[in-house]
Amino acid sequence: MNIILFGPPGAGKGTQADNISKSFNLYKISTGDLLRNEIYKKTSLGIKIKTIIDKGSFVPDEIINDLISKILADKKFYNRLIFDGYPRNLVQAENLDILFKKYNQNISCVLCLNVDKKKIIKRILGRQICSKCGLIFNEFFRPATSNNHACDSKFLVKRSDDNEETILKRYETYIEKTLPIINYYKKLNILHEIDGKTEIDQIFEKISHIIGSLET
Ligand SMILES: [Zn+2]
Repeated sequence: MNIILFGPPGAGKGTQADNISKSFNLYKISTGDLLRNEIYKKTSLGIKIKTIIDKGSFVPDEIINDLISKILADKKFYNRLIFDGYPRNLVQAENLDILFKKYNQNISCVLCLNVDKKKIIKRILGRQICSKCGLIFNEFFRPATSNNHACDSKFLVKRSDDNEETILKRYETYIEKTLPIINYYKKLNILHEIDGKTEIDQIFEKISHIIGSLET
């Protein structure tokens, strides 16, 4: 089974992708993780990627496609993928179709989380990541306290690209680029739209139901 998960940046799709990955034993493929890994390793590609991301722009398709192609060619991942935040435009979607055919696989279903712009801005602006243990908090929705976090608060950091202007730019770009892909998958009858405004557990319940109905 291969799944694609859509949602604007900050819609909580990373969390849902983690839940799906654990419950259905799939490998989560996030282009964000693949890109951050390159940046972390400080490869020449990583340095190039960081410059692009810091401007609030999207990384060129050919870089993304190469990273994805490596994943699909790997037998370890055969028919066990959940894509989080990919494809981001029609070119990437069409490329993914070609890659899936090449490696004798297909897309089982496409899930789309719908959340409005105001809620997303608040979610992202409040997001804090602990640089020591990696836990993620939100100063508005889930603040770090002595009960849920053992590290000193000095380790809590915000991502350099988490400011309102960049968020809005990312949201507009998401809508502009993603709507055509969503329509593309809608025509293929594999799209499932989900209300992303409700609680994480409720959203996951709906998702589980959809995926469960695919397996039978
Ligand atoms: Zn910590």
